Amino acid sequence: MSELKSWRALPLGTVPLKFSTEFKTGDWRTFKPVINQEKCVKCLLCWIYCPEMSIVWDGEKVSVNYDFCKGCGICACECPVKAISMVPER
Ligand code: SF4
Ligand code: SF4
Repeated sequence: MSELKSWRALPLGTVPLKFSTEFKTGDWRTFKPVINQEKCVKCLLCWIYCPEMSIVWDGEKVSVNYDFCKGCGICACECPVKAISMVPER
């Protein structure tokens, strides 16, 4: 029987890093959200619903942090004015 290890002994990648900013995790998207600033009514629903905390509100407009956005499309689905389009990554 192998020796039982603590999670600290596991190699990176086997430890959940969901909230880490050290490891950029947005590089496996197929589609990316693009925000039409002219349509956006700044309701911040996309900010609330994004499971990756990748919607950024700077006090004037919303944008997407593509370093961590997974391209799930939830923000586009929840936007009440359809200001977010999912476009092919490449
Ligand atoms: S596509 Fe998904 S992960 Fe990316 S900003 Fe929208 S809700 Fe967040
Ligand atoms: S949900 Fe749509 S309208 Fe609301 S802040 Fe986000 S992009 Fe703008």
